Amino acid sequence: MRARQILKIISFLPFGVYVYFSLAGKLLYELNPLFLIAGPVLAAVGLMVTRNLWLFALAVAASNAAVQLTGGVSSQLFFFYFLLLFVEGLRTSTWRYFAAAGAVLVLETGSALFHLGENAFPFGNLAAFAAFTAILYLFLRREQKRSTALAKDLEKERAKYYWIDPLTAPRSERLNALREERYSLDADVLYKRFVEFTFASLEVDTVALFLICGKDVLQLVAICSKSEKASEDVTLAMGEGLVGYLAREGKPALLTDLGADSGRLGYYAGEVEVSSLATAPVQREETNYGILVADARRRLTSYEQGFLIQVAALIAGDIELAAAYEERHREAMRFSGLYELAGNLLVGVSRDELIDRSFELVRELFAPDAIGFARLKQGEGAEVLRYEGGEDFANGFRFEAERSLVAMAAKHKGFLKQRDMSKPGLYRLGPGEKAPSNCTFFGIGFGEDAATQGVLWLEKEQVDAYSEREGKILGFAATLLSAAFLRVRYQEELARLARLDGLTGLLNHRTFQEELEKHMKESATLALFIIDLDLFKKVNDTYGHPVGDMVLAKVAEVIKDKGIAARYGGEEFALIVPNITSQQILGRGEEVLAGIRRAEVKIREGTIKFTASVGAAFYPTDFKTREDLIRAADAALYQAKTGGRDRLALAGKDILESR
Ligand code: GH3
Ligand code: MG
Ligand code: MG
Repeated sequence: MRARQILKIISFLPFGVYVYFSLAGKLLYELNPLFLIAGPVLAAVGLMVTRNLWLFALAVAASNAAVQLTGGVSSQLFFFYFLLLFVEGLRTSTWRYFAAAGAVLVLETGSALFHLGENAFPFGNLAAFAAFTAILYLFLRREQKRSTALAKDLEKERAKYYWIDPLTAPRSERLNALREERYSLDADVLYKRFVEFTFASLEVDTVALFLICGKDVLQLVAICSKSEKASEDVTLAMGEGLVGYLAREGKPALLTDLGADSGRLGYYAGEVEVSSLATAPVQREETNYGILVADARRRLTSYEQGFLIQVAALIAGDIELAAAYEERHREAMRFSGLYELAGNLLVGVSRDELIDRSFELVRELFAPDAIGFARLKQGEGAEVLRYEGGEDFANGFRFEAERSLVAMAAKHKGFLKQRDMSKPGLYRLGPGEKAPSNCTFFGIGFGEDAATQGVLWLEKEQVDAYSEREGKILGFAATLLSAAFLRVRYQEELARLARLDGLTGLLNHRTFQEELEKHMKESATLALFIIDLDLFKKVNDTYGHPVGDMVLAKVAEVIKDKGIAARYGGEEFALIVPNITSQQILGRGEEVLAGIRRAEVKIREGTIKFTASVGAAFYPTDFKTREDLIRAADAALYQAKTGGRDRLALAGKDILESR
């Protein structure tokens, strides 16, 4: 850069040297021989260092030499000398040729006047002046045309790319402030500010911003107007009216001859004089968010339209930014929800509570219109355990495993999305059921085995509602649920086992006490039987304990469907029979005795037969408390034993005193 500047300065040297020597030559009135050499040498230097000025330098040097040789200022060669400079100046549109030529002309004319009368040639100078003036005029006219065209181009470019004029600082300052602020503004306030800004910047009659909300509906979100007839609350259909039509087109428009037909605009209540309308789509890549509109009584320019386009692009950018922010925020919420769910699922919750919690979470994360949860039952299709949604169908609904989306999702064991549930041949639950139209099905199947296989599904009244990413999140939730359901199942199994006796599978002693307590509360009457095997020690002694155990299991088999059966102790059983009359007690007792008598255990040595004695007590007529009831039945059992075994004794009211 610096080197180029130095070269430029050097290229002007021939002119400087010419002036110096010419002046000196005139003043001394003699020819300096050095000048003859210096002129061409310097011209050569000029030629070398710059292409622009070579002709200039050469012309200066050559014509000066010629002038000096032919008698100075009065030479006709002057004419050609100046002409060369002018023509080159015109050709290259360079001012310095004219400046140089003008300066030389002044010098030469001055010196010619100085020597006037001796060998003056004023006509040559006058001709040179005339030529100079004419060519300068041509030059200036052309340059003026060029600069006008350039200014026009510049304005066009500016309208396209730079809608902030750096010279109008207050406007850009205002915009910068708005840009800073927009991160902390509510969307509605932000739209209002953008519209206010446009209104203040363009000096139009009305600026309005419409955004597409829902399907094919344009909602006015902000308006600024000089007219009192501008409405604040306007909803337009896409494609309808002028604004609706332009919004659907999604392209900028500039209408300059509207007439007085303001009614077509849709945002004026009553007639308003409008002659020009400019619109810009609020658009980002493929997505059309709405339209920014400006109208005026005067003719709007393409510059103003360009301005509008830029503001609309900023608004679209902000809408997208807000959506991205919202999406991020939602995703963060989802993960924290999942994290919370994972925590919850580790602690003991029941199956119902689990469904409650997962529904709650899913509702929060995905805002569906319906949620369903179903369990696959092998060979029986699947069963809806819970369904919460717009329309109703009974929980417990069984649906075919083969042809429903729900069962497909269950089998798929991954996330299954159907963009539109109402597609022919598809059913949510099964044939015959009418699925809602324009509704997305979004389901995830989970579970490892038949007992835990299930489906969680969402329905959203929107075509193609959820993204793949959301599918992954739902999948993650389902994995957690699956693990939780498995754990709940184990817990339920453990709880069930904890209530039972290991050898006989009947209720254990503790559970027997609980059941007795419960049924004494719930039932009007109740009989308690205590059953003790007769001379059981002998069985053990003769055949060994394992065979004794087989006998106990056999007895359990006999009594298990005679009432609520429990293993009371070693070889003692209990039977609770709720809602029985006192007359039925003996019958039930006899059934038990007969059953045991009939039972047999086959071993290698032969068949073992056995009997038992039974004591019974009746509630509440005879005994009111659990303790009394058990003690009475026990006492009756003793009576049965002492009475000869293999029999039933029923406790009377007096039995507790008698023992
Ligand atoms: P009774 O007719 O008077 O009832 O005579 P019994 O021999 O049955 O006497 P008792 O009721 O006192 O018998 C208790 C015996 O039951 C003692 C023990 O050997 C046996 N027994 C208790 N629990 C078990 C068990 O779980 N398995 C086996 N094989 N035997 C048991
Ligand atoms: Mg006993
Ligand atoms: Mg016994």
